[in-house]
Amino acid sequence: MAEFALIESIRSRCAVVRDDVRLGIGDDAALLAVPSGNLLAVSTDTLVCGVHFLADTRPSDIGWKALAVNLSDLAAMGAEPAWATLALTLPSADARWVDEFADGFAQLARKHRVALVGGDTTQGPLSITVTVHGFVPPGAALTRAGAQVGDGVYATGTLGDAAAGLKLFLPPLAGEGAEGGKGQLLVRLHRPIPRIAQGLILRGRATSCIDVSDGLVADLGHICAASGVGAEIDADTLPASPALGAAFAAEDRRAFQLAGGDDYELCFTAPDAIAPTLQRELADSGCAATRIGRVVDGAGVQVRDASGNPLALPHAGWEHFA
Ligand code: ADP
Ligand code: MG
Repeated sequence: MAEFALIESIRSRCAVVRDDVRLGIGDDAALLAVPSGNLLAVSTDTLVCGVHFLADTRPSDIGWKALAVNLSDLAAMGAEPAWATLALTLPSADARWVDEFADGFAQLARKHRVALVGGDTTQGPLSITVTVHGFVPPGAALTRAGAQVGDGVYATGTLGDAAAGLKLFLPPLAGEGAEGGKGQLLVRLHRPIPRIAQGLILRGRATSCIDVSDGLVADLGHICAASGVGAEIDADTLPASPALGAAFAAEDRRAFQLAGGDDYELCFTAPDAIAPTLQRELADSGCAATRIGRVVDGAGVQVRDASGNPLALPHAGWEHFA
């Protein structure tokens, strides 16, 4: 019985009305109408306690982030979000935890008019799987393949904040105070902003795109592999937030920017002919993009200092089973 009370609480807290949801939570399956002339973009991500978040993370932050990391994948495809499902595995039927979790999830869902249309609730070690569905016209989706030699490489927003926030959140720095700049870094860690509007600006125009979840070098490496090209990053051009600059010295900062995960910014490539227009539109959308390098012949990602000399990479991006 507890299971159904939890589901009802999640349903009521996450209510978002959409015409294309013909049947939502409550039956054996949801019935959904994809608008004609669109492809359905589908993506899933799991957050596991102890791997993706620490046990003492606020449930509302976990709820927000479980949806945010998924919406970020839709953003990176240039898709417009519509629906989500939620598979929750909980150690116990903790109604308060679930309510707070659902409130955090719903806060972000409402911003993007994402309807929660189903899911599953099971008992076991705390783990959250969200699947998101969005729409994109045929031919307009942003993929990892398509970067062309000569394109510029760009990143939205700022890089390294979430990894810096994690460093502050973990002992021995935890508790040093979340005031000012440090608080901003923690917000970047716990409440990532999926760059949905920016993905919609880029779709059909950028030559490739990925969201930075595992670290810039690792994720740009995926673009290189899929596109059959190499890339050079100019380390000194990487966008840093004032909070990151204030909390960490240059070397740490660079390591967070190049290899830190969890930022959920978009990294994309674009030809010089359209880059200024894209950059203007992105800045107008409230999230500017910075040119951080270029696509070159070859394979893999090289990082260069201000004089153009290659820099050793701090370490590779996050990989499970590594
Ligand atoms: P079934 O046994 O047919 O799989 P469930 O009892 O698991 O049905 O779920 C009942 C309804 O509640 C279904 O519509 C399902 O999609 C929905 N649901 C279950 N768990 C969740 C959840 N965590 N979030 C949203 N919807 C859920
Ligand atoms: Mg079920």
